[in-house]
Amino acid sequence: MRYRTRFAPSPTGLLHVGNAYSALSCAQWAKQHQAELLLRIEDIDHTRCKAEYADNIIEDLYWLGLRWQAHIRYQSQCSELYQQAISKLRDMQLIYPCFCTRKEIRQEVERIASAPHAEETQLEYPGTCKNRSLVEQTERMQHEGFAWRLNVNKALASVGQPLSWQDESGRKHAVKISHDIVIGRKDITFSYHLAVVIDDASQGITHVIRGDDLKDSTGIHRLLQALLALPEPVYIHHALLCGSDGDRLAKRHGSTTLQGLRQMGVEAQNLRDYLSHSEPLVWPFGVDDEQNILDVLGKTY
Ligand code: GLU
Repeated sequence: MRYRTRFAPSPTGLLHVGNAYSALSCAQWAKQHQAELLLRIEDIDHTRCKAEYADNIIEDLYWLGLRWQAHIRYQSQCSELYQQAISKLRDMQLIYPCFCTRKEIRQEVERIASAPHAEETQLEYPGTCKNRSLVEQTERMQHEGFAWRLNVNKALASVGQPLSWQDESGRKHAVKISHDIVIGRKDITFSYHLAVVIDDASQGITHVIRGDDLKDSTGIHRLLQALLALPEPVYIHHALLCGSDGDRLAKRHGSTTLQGLRQMGVEAQNLRDYLSHSEPLVWPFGVDDEQNILDVLGKTY
């Protein structure tokens, strides 16, 4: 069987060197394994994504040297499939409407004495709406905003066996999910978790290659695959490109968009070479470091 992987950027801004590293990791893996490389634009969150960013990303990836299968999938065009999955999970009684605002969740987390690290927990949902009656749910859904949350314990129990996801070496990682995650919303409608799982299955993805920062989401994806009877890809999480302070690369680390580099006159080949030789994975350049960037990236490796 021919392997298939994908690069799946979200068009919430311009592509930066961290994204370029991720894209090159996918492309390199695909080349090594004679696999097909697909491109997917994850533009499901219409409050943050813009069509012009999607166009810029495609242009930047092409400049970087990436080549993918002809059809580009846009999540914004696949809503029907995601809706079917929500309906299925609803029929299985594994999701419930949650009416809490972020503020209410924060207050509830702080109120619960057994949550000593409330501010560190990234607002783990305490289950406030889990046990509301069907009558209350139906009544409130008529006139209140809500999110669909997956009842994780019930969902895991319904699978009937311990779940794990598998990495490239064949190692199995137990699925651990700490709270009832959102899989749909009244405004944004579908969460990243739901869309990514449906897309990977519809596109026949055999290997998912993505950054370490998404490792915690993989258990959620595995659970959704089991619930929706979808195939299970192999997962490869690559290390993230960091700034010289060791933190994951962010805007404050300077002018790191691919467009910015192109405008400076950096050649794609030199950027590719730099990223494939950067060990450890550091982008040491700061704001206004144009001369340094040109000095280093002007070199041939
Ligand atoms: N769209 C996600 C991002 O840009 C990547 C999702 C994935 O690779 O599963 O971070």
